[in-house]
Amino acid sequence: MRKVGILGGGQLGRMLLQAAANYPVETYVMENDEQCPAAHLCHHFIKGDIRNYEEVYNFGKGLDAITIEIESVNEEALWQLEKENVQIFPKPSALKIIKNKILQKQFYKEHQIPTADFLVTENLQQIFGHSGFLPAVHKLGSGGYDGRGVQVMHTADDMKKGFDAPGVLEKMVDIHKEIAVIIAINQKGEAAIYPPVDMAFLADLNLLDYQISPAEMPEKTLWKTEAIALKVVRELKSPGIFAVELFVDKNQEVYVNETAPRVHNSGHHSIEGNYSSQFDMLWRVMLGYPLGNTSPILPAAIVNLLGEPGYSGEAHYEGLEKVLSMDNVFVHIYGKRQTKPGRKMGHVTILGKDKQDLVRRAHAIKEQLKVISK
Ligand code: ADP
Repeated sequence: MRKVGILGGGQLGRMLLQAAANYPVETYVMENDEQCPAAHLCHHFIKGDIRNYEEVYNFGKGLDAITIEIESVNEEALWQLEKENVQIFPKPSALKIIKNKILQKQFYKEHQIPTADFLVTENLQQIFGHSGFLPAVHKLGSGGYDGRGVQVMHTADDMKKGFDAPGVLEKMVDIHKEIAVIIAINQKGEAAIYPPVDMAFLADLNLLDYQISPAEMPEKTLWKTEAIALKVVRELKSPGIFAVELFVDKNQEVYVNETAPRVHNSGHHSIEGNYSSQFDMLWRVMLGYPLGNTSPILPAAIVNLLGEPGYSGEAHYEGLEKVLSMDNVFVHIYGKRQTKPGRKMGHVTILGKDKQDLVRRAHAIKEQLKVISK
């Protein structure tokens, strides 16, 4: 059996392991917390720091393949492991580009992939010289995550909120919609594209709040979106699974925002909503099996279960029974013992033909199911 390692044992690793149960594979997970969501679902749990060279190298050296659930892994160890013939999904060369927003934006520009205009900034002082670029968004080159490395700037005064570290100053896009497209690509270069997903964000936490798939958009915008996302993935020249996040502006122009080289939040609905889920698909890619069918079974909505503001401590799921009694509703609890405000604790997938009904039920579930502490 092939030995495959996952760097990171959070909810993405957990769902990946749930899908692994269908395949002949021996799974390994590295994470620094033995109580992490993925720990008890893998064959072998290794406690360690995914950012540490020695630990990642030692974890990977006996394995056939490795994948990641987060970008902040030790990239140098992956380069070395690749030299020693461990297959890495995504390849370190692709990870390197994506890990740093400066390199990522330059990559889009070099490959004529539409993306918001940008300037590279080395420090806060440099930002002040570019007030002509406003309104803009300042993004930290590396280390930002879940909206924490992003500052929106409308006025020259807002520029003080910029990061005093290398980053990009990006022109503000007049966003009509935020879309994500997940694409798997195998060793032969064959690609499988999932239908785009409409994302809606919680403005204050900047976390994905609920989403609907497939996204509604004019056919021409859909073609453009798919073509652009596919170009991103092809130019990264790496097998694996990728989530390309895009903006559609008020004129139906499409811009790439950013890409994740791994299974992604925006693909959770695919577990029940599509014939082959993003997790199933990644195993197919890593184990060399044919790609799966990305078609939707039914339209789907996702509600993220975030820790309720004002509650920290042992997690308690208020309203769970009610939601579990609903038809075509699938609850995923990630098994994190402790909740805190805004923490991603689980998600709920809702299937149904009628989009309005999906949105209505998504709101009802958001009202009914709360993660609190006792
Ligand atoms: P993160 O990597 O932390 O998720 P993103 O780059 O996706 O950060 O930015 C977070 C959010 O900020 C986006 O989902 C979008 O709503 C907003 N945003 C980012 N870039 C722009 C832009 N150029 N124009 C307008 N809004 C933007």
